[in-house]
Amino acid sequence: MTKRAYNFNAGPAALPLSVLQTAAEQMTNFEGTGMSVMEMSHRSENYERLNNETQGLFRTLFGIPDGYKVLFLQGGASTQFAMVPMNLLPAGKTAAFVVHGAWSTKAYKEAKLFGDAVTIASSKESGFKSVPDLSKSALPDNTAYLHVTSNETIEGVQFDAFPETGEVPLIADMSSDILSRPLDVSKFSLIYAGAQKNLGPSGVTVVIAKDELVDKSPEHLATMLRYDTHAANNSLYNTPPSFSVYIMNLVLRWIESEGGLAGIERRNVEKTNLIYQAIDESEGFYRGHADAPYRSRMNITFRLSNEDDEKAFLKAADAAGFVGLKGHRSVGGCRASTYNAVPYEACAALAEFMHDFRRKRQ
Ligand code: PMP
Repeated sequence: MTKRAYNFNAGPAALPLSVLQTAAEQMTNFEGTGMSVMEMSHRSENYERLNNETQGLFRTLFGIPDGYKVLFLQGGASTQFAMVPMNLLPAGKTAAFVVHGAWSTKAYKEAKLFGDAVTIASSKESGFKSVPDLSKSALPDNTAYLHVTSNETIEGVQFDAFPETGEVPLIADMSSDILSRPLDVSKFSLIYAGAQKNLGPSGVTVVIAKDELVDKSPEHLATMLRYDTHAANNSLYNTPPSFSVYIMNLVLRWIESEGGLAGIERRNVEKTNLIYQAIDESEGFYRGHADAPYRSRMNITFRLSNEDDEKAFLKAADAAGFVGLKGHRSVGGCRASTYNAVPYEACAALAEFMHDFRRKRQ
């Protein structure tokens, strides 16, 4: 049995052991080619097949309807913060944003560099503990799209029900919860996600978008920043992040073997319940950051009742082999990132550790 860390890193993050083992086996000889995918031409038949198969896996696993493209790009989700408005926010139109944490704030600020953008709802005033109530917010008449962040990675606040936007395209940054639960993709016009949390290693960014949004970009845009460049070239306009796409292919197959998104969601609920229970049963020793209805199944954020306990907790957790539990440097506290590939056993061990630590400390 391989000794694996209890890895709660926020991203790059844990990958399924079986994926790493397959990659290790195929490292010197991928499907009889005598080389790894890293060493292979992206113009080869093998790679083209891998590229197409990986798109196909996305389509079946996520239930992507006809009329959508699946693109594999580079530059991370941060580049999508710019590419979305560059491609889809013409003069005279407004990009609308829901802001409930650090990443949606960044997406909004970036869009403002390229055109008119407004925040239609924000939970900033109440400390980003919830998804803001959207029932009181109206979209401006000239809205180009509404942008949401399905899961705020730093605050640990997740959307449950997404807004109905009618004719207005709904665009979602799903970097930290893509493929963690079944969703109706047809509600969204464009979804993007960096791979390094739920999909694979860093290096590839997935964009799933309706054909009409990516088939024609504005005339004067740099070639690499145009969706139509990548859409017209099957994501092979230039050298793709081939190894990242390959590992993502293995991760998607692993999700399939776990019962698809329904199976993955069940697992995520079971394993995160253990940790949320440890928080809720602690009589205030551990304090969850997010309001209960918005608690994330991917990033569990909490504090201890005082700084000394918090420091001691992180130190003891580190010594006990738990990795990545320190909260993001901008907010402090603790965060356990429990992405798809984090095993139930790691979450059970953490919940047990939290109970023990509290008993010893109280
Ligand atoms: N959006 C969200 C929700 C994220 O969690 C992150 C990364 N933590 C980003 C965007 C930025 O992603 P990248 O580092 O791939 O640019």
